[in-house]
Amino acid sequence: MTLFEPQDAAVIPRFAGTPSFFRLPMLTDPAEVDVALIGVPFDGGTTNRPGTRHGPREIRNQSSLMRRINANGVSPYDTLRVADLGDCPVNPINLLDSLQKIETFFSTIAQAGAVPITAGGDHLISLPILRALARKESVGLIHFDAHSDTNDLYFGNNPYTHGSPFRRAVEEGLLDPKRVVQIGIRGTYYHESDWDFARGCGIRIITMDEVMDRGITDVIAEARAIAGALPTYVTFDIDCLDPAYAVGTGTPEIGGLTTREAQRMLRALAGLNIIGADVVEVSPPFDPSGLTALTGATMMFELLCVIAGRS
Ligand code: MN
Ligand code: MN
Repeated sequence: MTLFEPQDAAVIPRFAGTPSFFRLPMLTDPAEVDVALIGVPFDGGTTNRPGTRHGPREIRNQSSLMRRINANGVSPYDTLRVADLGDCPVNPINLLDSLQKIETFFSTIAQAGAVPITAGGDHLISLPILRALARKESVGLIHFDAHSDTNDLYFGNNPYTHGSPFRRAVEEGLLDPKRVVQIGIRGTYYHESDWDFARGCGIRIITMDEVMDRGITDVIAEARAIAGALPTYVTFDIDCLDPAYAVGTGTPEIGGLTTREAQRMLRALAGLNIIGADVVEVSPPFDPSGLTALTGATMMFELLCVIAGRS
């Protein structure tokens, strides 16, 4: 088995060279890896402020700041074969074609047995990824977000936007709604009925107020119980964070999680049966400092450490 390592920063400095995810090798064959790091540069599902198509490139760039062991001593490259599998093909002027291209690409990843960790892209990309990963059986979902993303139709009768992926995923049988938990939900919404679908089908919505009242330890224990031992996908919308920590996103909502709270909650997912994860809604044009993309890269690394099996 060939393990892969980031480029040695004592040989090639971290500001030099091609910025792959975490300075890992760029490969094309998913059979060579246990975990595939993938970019999906698509923001065609965005209903308001765009720019997440630029997310993967800037997350790769900022990920050159990451080292190889997390703060708790987890060293994922010692046990997992991890590499950058490049960007998934997309069509920036055709949403339905993009959904098909993303599903096809991730089907290849799944068939090779690799676990994808994806950098978006807007949140609609989670739907075709789930179509690829949950084709045979519905899966659970741990969903960090300011928004439930279970709205229905937009601009007439259009079913596919970044505000609706998890409604579609439940309708298509990709998600078992009783095994779906949404954490950090807050902000204004359109209608009193916006959460009716989610609550009606059994999705557990944990609002930001509830997170504050109960504390993150209690909340993540409930999330683990909801996901259980069965296959579970983790999706991390960067707008779950307070915009003070992640301003570079299309639909910021004040009053969110700190980066520290989010790191602790992700680490507490270790041991779950995680079949894939994504970090979405990083929009570099709204954050010239690059901090939001660094935050997205860091959350991807925390997810990698969780998949490595420890916190
Ligand atoms: Mn979202
Ligand atoms: Mn959101």
